[in-house]
Amino acid sequence: MPDVTRRVLILGGTTEGRLLAGALDGWSVISSLAGRTSRPLLPPGELRIGGFGGVDGLAAYLRDRRVDALVDATHPFAATMTGHAVAAAATTGVPLLVLRRPGWVAEPGDDWHRVPDLGVAAARLPRLGDRVFLTTGRQGIAAFAALDECWFLARSVEPPVPPVPKRLEIVLDRGPFTLEGELRLLRAHGVNVLVTKDSGGPSGKLAAARAVGVPVLMIDRPPMPEAPAADTIESAVAWLKVAVR
Ligand code: NAP
Repeated sequence: MPDVTRRVLILGGTTEGRLLAGALDGWSVISSLAGRTSRPLLPPGELRIGGFGGVDGLAAYLRDRRVDALVDATHPFAATMTGHAVAAAATTGVPLLVLRRPGWVAEPGDDWHRVPDLGVAAARLPRLGDRVFLTTGRQGIAAFAALDECWFLARSVEPPVPPVPKRLEIVLDRGPFTLEGELRLLRAHGVNVLVTKDSGGPSGKLAAARAVGVPVLMIDRPPMPEAPAADTIESAVAWLKVAVR
């Protein structure tokens, strides 16, 4: 009997990637993780871990595994992987969907300062506060390493690697985080500025910052390449059903 099961490769490392893998009943699902964290939350179905070796490696994988559709469900800031997905889909003809949760929108009471990247965030930070809750993930911490005038409470899943700021306390933790917990953290450490990427999703820290009047340095998402996009699991499933018949 020929294998007629439709096969999708999900580039993951996000809640959306895991949820989509679980929502594709009747599909053969392969999830791909970069391998950055030592104890990742695992999606259901087949799993592969580690880089593909650039665009050519990903294109070869799509061909070798006879992948029918590719979903880039990586984090909105994983711009290199997204760019590779767009290029590999173009060379192989495999349909690509980018699945992204929506970015955050400021509400009344918010004091947000939007910046285009980590470098501008580091330059702007000392004017906003000197007791910083830094939630950019461990790869973002190095950008603030030279700011001796600021004290940092940095939260990440894995410990950061040098360079790191001189005055730094690390909290190793993984979300979701509650409003109550975030309020406790801000108050206990006398935080007077929050730094975050515009990741989207549950946002206890933003509500906590609003509640205690702490300004937020919000790092904008990198630009999205031209590609079909969805922002919910349901619309991604619907797209897949049409893209691969
Ligand atoms: P990136 O800079 O866009 O990608 C760098 C390289 O890592 C890619 O060229 C690729 O290597 C490999 N890679 C990335 N995602 C992969 C995946 N899902 N499967 C296989 N290889 C992958 O990515 P990043 O920002 O370091 O993020 C790495 C992973 O962490 C992503 O899966 C992302 O969803 C997750 N994540 C990132 C953030 C963030 O803030 N950036 C936050 C939460 C989770 P090759 O070129 O060798 O294929």
